Amino acid sequence: MALSLPPEERMTRLSHAHLAPQTGTGLVVHRGELLRIIDPTGEQVSDLISFAKDDPREWLSSGRTIDYANTIYLTTGHTLYSNRSRPMWTVVEDTVGRHDFLLTPCSPETFTIIYGTTGHHPSCFENLAKNLAPFGITPDVIPTTLNVFMNVDVLPSGEIRILPPKSRAGDYLVLRAEMDLIVGVTACSAELSNNGSFKPIDVEVHAAPAAPAGRTDRAAPASV
Ligand SMILES: [Zn+2]
Repeated sequence: MALSLPPEERMTRLSHAHLAPQTGTGLVVHRGELLRIIDPTGEQVSDLISFAKDDPREWLSSGRTIDYANTIYLTTGHTLYSNRSRPMWTVVEDTVGRHDFLLTPCSPETFTIIYGTTGHHPSCFENLAKNLAPFGITPDVIPTTLNVFMNVDVLPSGEIRILPPKSRAGDYLVLRAEMDLIVGVTACSAELSNNGSFKPIDVEVHAAPAAPAGRTDRAAPASV
């Protein structure tokens, strides 16, 4: 469900991180809190992964999520599930409507195999591994990421096309945490995903929204 007030008037910001191009961060988001991923300049992808804070063997699952949503294009109202089929996130608001959950985070090998790059190239995988290490997350357990703002088309033949993101300056995605989570987020390092240039990403955590005015925990009359 989309909320009608602009975010600034209905959200209480607890933290903010400005990710420089080709970097990442790791953070904890508690149940009920809102994670807002913002593309401040447009056409920039942000790879996101999460693990249950109480047991990092539970992780955000592309397969489970796509299976239950019955679509590869996830947006407002969809639930993002863990490998144990428990809700990890709910998509609360989405100003873009196109994200990818098929492809893995770009890695050093991505640039060797697909781009033919020689020498070191920054990557989301390395940035996630580095920023999740303090939480005890090892590189081998990082699965397919939710690639926020990534624009992937699947042709009838099954061929995949990576197109420029549809996000414009200021566009954002808001996820509500359904459990306490360890989260890794990047400003993606891959040329192809970001229409050829690298830009920053802003990451905000907001407090759980207050209940609407007048609402109480008491049961309301069935009709008035
Ligand atoms: Zn990337």
